[in-house]
Amino acid sequence: MAAEQTAITSGLPVSGRTRVVGVFGWPVAHSLSPSMHNAAFRHLGLDFIYVAFPVAPAHLPQALRGIRALDLVGVNLTIPHKEAALPHLDTLAPEVELIGAANTVHHEDGCLVGYNTDARGFTAALQEARFTAAGARAVLVGAGGAARAALWELARGGARAITLLNRTPSRAQALAEAVARQFPGVAVEVRPLRGPGRAHALAGADLLVNATPAGMAHEPPLDLPLEALPDSCLVCDLVYTPPETPLLRAARDRGLRTCDGLGMLVHQGALSFGIWTKQPAPVPVMRRALLETLAGTATGLRLTASRHLGDN
Ligand code: NAP
Repeated sequence: MAAEQTAITSGLPVSGRTRVVGVFGWPVAHSLSPSMHNAAFRHLGLDFIYVAFPVAPAHLPQALRGIRALDLVGVNLTIPHKEAALPHLDTLAPEVELIGAANTVHHEDGCLVGYNTDARGFTAALQEARFTAAGARAVLVGAGGAARAALWELARGGARAITLLNRTPSRAQALAEAVARQFPGVAVEVRPLRGPGRAHALAGADLLVNATPAGMAHEPPLDLPLEALPDSCLVCDLVYTPPETPLLRAARDRGLRTCDGLGMLVHQGALSFGIWTKQPAPVPVMRRALLETLAGTATGLRLTASRHLGDN
């Protein structure tokens, strides 16, 4: 067999020395990460390849052990593995201890080290939109994994006050209490998504973040009174399919600044890339690859029954 062959999906030459990274998810077939990372490897001429591994929940411990056995450089973890993986990792970065979830594993000298680049990716996306959390008042919609990463980042960044709006307030309450214990200087309160108090919270917000799937293709949008927001408020949606969600369109129509979910997606990927390769990631190349893949798969996405795409 020839020493080198072409990988059809990435266009990268694959040799006996090619280093392998990837993503463990279930399902994972619609992941955008392979196109984003392989574009970056190709751009920098790195002998790496990124592969999507469909790992059923029952197989996660074996799959993680397989990182060592197969000498993979590392993997991303996506739904439903971000929390379940923790007991199987050797070392957890401080942000993983805080957030209770990891999305990146690095295989370092036989040890599996867990990182959470979702969190820092969120901050990087806000920074790109020229927003700093220090002293800010934020309204965060949702109480799932994405909301948790965003909440810890806002608190860590010195936000003054954070209001959590959630469909199930009790779920948000536990999260709010954990953050308030860790960051006593941050005022965290919980309000029902549809109920009293939300307009008041919106009226004082410097930042509004949607961390729910509402507004994804075929999901009804969030029903929020955007007219209550101050003109200076930044509206951020973590949903990235479509890149301009109904929330962002309504915010733009209202004259507000917006920040789309591709920002967090590309920055979490760029941070994982840096951990694995020790090189700065080519962020514009990765963003372009994401946009091209999204444009090319728009039809497929419409057919997707899952609410999650296998990334994040
Ligand atoms: P999750 O853990 O399943 O949490 C979902 C949250 O959304 C829960 O708080 C849930 O409320 C709420 N929710 C679900 N459907 C809703 C609806 N129709 N209306 C109002 N609230 C609703 O999900 P996740 O992992 O946090 O992900 C949330 C979204 O963020 C997904 O769209 C995901 O793709 C996106 N995301 C993007 C990035 C990125 O890089 N851009 C990263 C991570 C996640 P209850 O508590 O009441 O169930």
